Amino acid sequence: MKELVDKIIKLKKDKNAVILAHCYQNAEIDEVADFVGDSLYLSQMASKTNAKIILFAGVYFMAQTAKILCPDKKVLLPNINAGCEMADMINLEQLKDFKHKYPNIPTVCYINSTAEVKSECDICCTSSNAIKIVDSLKSEKVLFLPDKNLGRWVEKHLANTTVITYDGYCPIHHNITIEDVLNVKRANPNIKLLAHPECQEVITSQADFVGSTTGIMNFVKNSSDKKFIIATEKGVVDRLRRDYPQKEFVIIKENLVCRSMKLNSLQDIYNSLNNETYEIEVNREISQKALKCIERMLDISKNGAAN
Ligand code: SF4
Repeated sequence: MKELVDKIIKLKKDKNAVILAHCYQNAEIDEVADFVGDSLYLSQMASKTNAKIILFAGVYFMAQTAKILCPDKKVLLPNINAGCEMADMINLEQLKDFKHKYPNIPTVCYINSTAEVKSECDICCTSSNAIKIVDSLKSEKVLFLPDKNLGRWVEKHLANTTVITYDGYCPIHHNITIEDVLNVKRANPNIKLLAHPECQEVITSQADFVGSTTGIMNFVKNSSDKKFIIATEKGVVDRLRRDYPQKEFVIIKENLVCRSMKLNSLQDIYNSLNNETYEIEVNREISQKALKCIERMLDISKNGAAN
C-alpha cells in the first residue's frame, strides 16, 4: 500500500491535483487526501483550490458539484459507478411535477441531488446548514427535496415555516428502525445517542444530539463523555474510533454501510489520476443555473454553519 500511496502523491504533485475525500470513504484514502470532510466543507474547498485537477473521492453528485463550482478545472471521479441512491430518487421531470403541485413556493434542494435538479431549485443546503438555509428564505412554506427526513427535522426547528417534503430518503439512514435503536439503548443505558438528520423522525426524537457528520464529530470532540451510541454511516464511526481511541463508540448496526461510497479504492485513485478518468462534465447552461443555487448557499454559510 505504501508504494501505491507514494505513487499517488507524486502524481498529485506532477499534475497539480488536489484530492477531496468524503468522511464516508475507506480509511486508506485519508493517506492521499488533501482535504477530508463532509459535503459543505468539501464544496468550500473545491471553490477555493488553485489546483488544475480536482479528484473527488466520493460519489457522483459531489464531483458534479465540484465541476459546477470550478468549470475550468478538470474534475475526476475515480469510480464511475459511485452514485447516490438518494440523489437518484428525483430527476428533472419529477421535480417539475413536484413544483407544479405546489406552485410559487421557494424550493430547497439538499446537496445530494443532481446538477439538473439543482439548476431548477432556488437554493441548495447540506445537513450542516439546512436549518439556516431554509430559515433564510423567510417563507411560510418551503419545498424541500429529495430527503424527507432532513426536511421534517428542519421543520421541527422552525416555528414559522411549513416544509413540504419530497418522498426521497437515504436508504442507509432511513432503514434504521426504532427497534434497532431501543435495543442498543437498552444494552447501553445512560449513553448519549448521536444521530444524523437523514434518520427518520422516530429515531432523531430519541437522540441526545442530531447533526451532520461534522456536527457529530464536534460533539464527540467537545464532550467529556467516554462512550457514545452513533446512528449514521459506519465510516463516521470508524473515523471516530481512529481519532478518539480512548473513547468507545457503539454503532446502531454493523451494516450501515454506503456501498457506493466504498467503491473508490487507492488503485482507482491512482488509475484516475494517471489516465485522467473519469472526467465529469456538466452541460454549460445547467451548470450556470446550478451554480447560482450552490453559491447562494455558500454565501449564507460564510457566516458560520448553522449547527
Ligand atoms: S450514505 Fe445515503 S445519502 Fe450518502 S451517498 Fe450513500 S446513499 Fe447517498
